[in-house]
Amino acid sequence: MTHLNYETRMPLGQAVIDQFLGLRPHPTKIQATYVWIDGTGENLRSKTRTFDRLPKKIEDYPIWNYDGSSTGQAKGRDSDRYLRPVAAYPDPFLGGANKLVMCDTLDHEMQPTVRETRPWFGMEQEYLIVDRDEHPLGWPKHGFPAPQGKYYCSVGADRAFGREVVETHYRACLHTGLNIFGTNAEVTPGQWEFQIGTCEGIDMGDQLWISRYILHRVAEQFGVCVSLDPKPKVTMGDWNGAGCHTNFSTAEMRAPGGIKAIEAAMEGLKRTHLEAMKVYDPHGGEDNLRRLTGRHETSSADQFSWGVANRGCSIRIPRQVAAEKKGYLEDRRPSSNCDPYQVTAMIAQSILLL
Ligand code: ADP
Ligand code: MN
Ligand code: MN
Ligand code: MN
Repeated sequence: MTHLNYETRMPLGQAVIDQFLGLRPHPTKIQATYVWIDGTGENLRSKTRTFDRLPKKIEDYPIWNYDGSSTGQAKGRDSDRYLRPVAAYPDPFLGGANKLVMCDTLDHEMQPTVRETRPWFGMEQEYLIVDRDEHPLGWPKHGFPAPQGKYYCSVGADRAFGREVVETHYRACLHTGLNIFGTNAEVTPGQWEFQIGTCEGIDMGDQLWISRYILHRVAEQFGVCVSLDPKPKVTMGDWNGAGCHTNFSTAEMRAPGGIKAIEAAMEGLKRTHLEAMKVYDPHGGEDNLRRLTGRHETSSADQFSWGVANRGCSIRIPRQVAAEKKGYLEDRRPSSNCDPYQVTAMIAQSILLL
């Protein structure tokens, strides 16, 4: 593995870690890392435990608990919260039979969350690689990099910053069996994207959250951080923000002539626009006000619009979809730090419950 020479990289002994992780695994015992979303609705937490043997199906993973008062999810008294496993994936960090386990968090009454299935989703996760002082990777310490234009899908040491993180994350997601669709360098220097999909219904949220967890862990190993802020302060000037475009289709939309169903969906999406904007970022729409300005390949936050091949619209019908008269639509409004469970539920509700 290549190592980055970031000045912030922790002087940890990789060879020592390799020595221990390389030991022959125990014949039956495994480590399961339970992952959940904390009270910010944005950040992830995890803790790990041993099982004497590998659970066969997700229902066999025991419900666990954690201290909700330390994660912004409970008051000091009565602080226990439950973790209910919803999906288990091979762990790309520990390898072997070890698992990453995406969990729902439940209050003391064990309120189950509604789990939606049926339609297909694909989400494009944009993010910025930054150092521990939130300074974007590849940016000069003083002043700004050369203007946007040469960074999108770029190749070369003067314009593509942090590919090591991207490639490692891609492989780790593949190992984990996630439906990772692809990756590309983005418009702002240090900014990248990966896509997850297609996924059916609730699986979209499970997979995107686990892929974010893996991304934060990979970055941690390289001594850098990942910002999902849709418009970090240093990028407030003439730089693209970060979104999480959400692609959607039903069987009807994918069938010949499906463009009719795609166009019909616009009415529902328009009707719920203001409601949707409130759940498309974790701060009730405030994050997106900084990003959806109508400039930098975005629509404006307060107006619904749609169009073919138009990246300045709320909803875009990709050119290829218009040409083939079937396929899917792209909701460009969700912020990079959105909760995919809420976004997919909102889209399904807007379109399917007309
Ligand atoms: P863009 O041109 O907007 O940058 P990308 O190539 O980054 O698009 O991402 C395309 C996304 O569309 C992927 O996440 C993929 O899973 C998703 N997608 C493709 N076909 C469908 C479909 N029929 N329904 C839903 N999502 C789809
Ligand atoms: Mn994309
Ligand atoms: Mn993009
Ligand atoms: Mn897109």
